[in-house]
Amino acid sequence: MPSDFKDDSLDTLLAYGQQAGATATAIIPPESVEVKERLAALCHQPKCPFWGQSMSCPPHVGDPSTMKKQLLSTRHVLVIRLEIQACSLLGDDRPQVLRLLHETVACIEHKAKELGFPRSAGFAGGSCKSSFCAEHPDCRALTQNGQCRYPDQARPSLSGYGVNVGKLMESAGWPGTLFTGRSDDQGTLSWVAGLVLLS
Ligand code: SF4
Repeated sequence: MPSDFKDDSLDTLLAYGQQAGATATAIIPPESVEVKERLAALCHQPKCPFWGQSMSCPPHVGDPSTMKKQLLSTRHVLVIRLEIQACSLLGDDRPQVLRLLHETVACIEHKAKELGFPRSAGFAGGSCKSSFCAEHPDCRALTQNGQCRYPDQARPSLSGYGVNVGKLMESAGWPGTLFTGRSDDQGTLSWVAGLVLLS
């Protein structure tokens, strides 16, 4: 593949990500993604209320070793930062905010496949059970043999894979602290993160 094609594709994806809803997007090398067992363990020690509730959370997703293996066959990592009001992240709006993250990540993943990265894989944050299927008693992907209700929108959560999202922000050139130190008219801003492995 000519290098100018590759660079054009990455630039197109970065711009597309921001049109799709990301506050910022960046490309980093796969070896910059830090993966830690101790971070993955936070999903079950203490156990998250959504642990085991959907196909996108542990124990139904991969683990740190899965992510490390996937990174070995990844050409580039597209990092997504979505800035939001801290009160939304910590309050009743949290499922809707995280749904937006899932949808943005999935949208970029689809575009990456169109642009010459056919095995791209997107990862979001938070449980898709609360963001997409809160009104349903079960995750259909678990009860009906993988038939997710939102296959084009819901993505696995980064948490179970042990990805250090603060380090991810710093590798992308952004602050990794939970609060940005900035505000809008509704209060202090924080962020949530996703990524797409481009391969
Ligand atoms: S069916 Fe609902 S809860 Fe299950 S993986 Fe799909 S979006 Fe998530």
